[in-house]
Amino acid sequence: MVASQHLKQASPTAPSSVGSGVADTVSGVIADIRTRGDVAVREYSEKFDRWSPENFRLSAEDIERIVATVPEAVITDITTVQASVRRFAQHQRDSMTDFEVEMSPGVHLGQKNIPVSAVGAYVPGGRYPLVASAHMTVVTAKVAGVESVAACTPPIRGEIPAATIAAMHLAGADDIYVLGGVQAVAAMAVGTETVRPVNLLVGPGNAYVAEAKRQLFGSVGIDLFAGPTETLVVADEFADPFVVAVDLLSQAEHGPDSPAILVTSSAEVGRAALEHIDRLLVDMPTKDFAGPAWRDHGQVIVTENLEDAYRVADSFASEHVQILTAEPRRALETMRNFGALFLGEGTCVSYGDKVIGTNHTLPTRGAARYTGGLWVGKYLKTVTYQEVTDQAASAALGELCGRAARVEFFEGHARSGDVRAAKYAGAELPW
Ligand code: NAD
Repeated sequence: MVASQHLKQASPTAPSSVGSGVADTVSGVIADIRTRGDVAVREYSEKFDRWSPENFRLSAEDIERIVATVPEAVITDITTVQASVRRFAQHQRDSMTDFEVEMSPGVHLGQKNIPVSAVGAYVPGGRYPLVASAHMTVVTAKVAGVESVAACTPPIRGEIPAATIAAMHLAGADDIYVLGGVQAVAAMAVGTETVRPVNLLVGPGNAYVAEAKRQLFGSVGIDLFAGPTETLVVADEFADPFVVAVDLLSQAEHGPDSPAILVTSSAEVGRAALEHIDRLLVDMPTKDFAGPAWRDHGQVIVTENLEDAYRVADSFASEHVQILTAEPRRALETMRNFGALFLGEGTCVSYGDKVIGTNHTLPTRGAARYTGGLWVGKYLKTVTYQEVTDQAASAALGELCGRAARVEFFEGHARSGDVRAAKYAGAELPW
């Protein structure tokens, strides 16, 4: 039992983005797109995004024209960040080895990693053009060896997000669509007259996008449940409360449904951070999102000591956990539930989100209890194979298989073993 007190609690009447309304809307849109294809996609794009271009898919000429409008300095930064994402992803790929082991003479078992053939990458863009999500989803897919990557992003306030399109293109996307929300992920999952179906959906998104991926899972694979952003800061008495405040608001600005939580062993740091947040929110340019997020979902929890702070932090299983303590690496040994860990004041969640090279597509709503974030391995199918090249070994396995299968009353399975045992040992079949 952890003793803790709240200096600030989440609002008990805070609107939630996981209400049944979201699930019902999503299931209706998916069912409609399954039956009516492109016609339904266009209707929902008009309804939710007021977007109905002649083609949702951009041609090579469209892409060239759009990319040409992006300032050179932005292109350079995109290329720089993509190089880091690619390099880290390549290290992950190199860590996933295929192997073969000879279990006994002539009995060979192996494991092989095969990339998924076709991926649909969702790059969010309702409130902000999330350029970085293109690096995270498309670059990583290409490092994994995915042959065909379709990438979708919504229009933003009726315009094509040029920097996002440039990032998708530079990352190596094979097809680019300006199409958002449920209609985008459903079209990629089920396929329509003009959208080729994919095997795997990846990428973050709002509550509608995350719910759509959840409902589509089964007919396609999904990377993980990566919904509205969450952040949690663990701080001790050595933390700078101003940095704590700035970092909490940096994630609250994602949207009014983004929780930002401070768990600290120092009531003084907690109180000072609260004051800084109130002051910063007065003229923060994104206060319309960060303000409601902090008011409704912000929390400041004070624990008796740092060990308790880690326990409380673990119980949230937050998407991002930032450690602002004297010995940040202790968190790496102690904590178990987080999407990504940011160790010490020298780094921050924004580095992970935008530039440093780790993937920013991360688990939300407690999914960090069972999964990490998007990485090369999510695009690979780890499959096994076997070969028995020694007849005596196969005969011995056949005898064992016959007995094991009959314990389960599987006569057909047993006979596959029997036939080898008999054939290779020169014996009579028992049936
Ligand atoms: P988005 O692209 O995810 O969603 C925009 C789309 O939502 C629109 O195109 C529209 O079609 C659809 N939509 C909006 N209102 C709807 C309604 N009432 N009914 C049906 N569909 C509707 O962009 P966004 O809204 O800005 O959200 C981006 C989200 O991605 C944020 O919540 C952010 O926190 C999250 N995010 C998560 C991660 C992660 O790894 N977990 C990373 C980055 C961003």
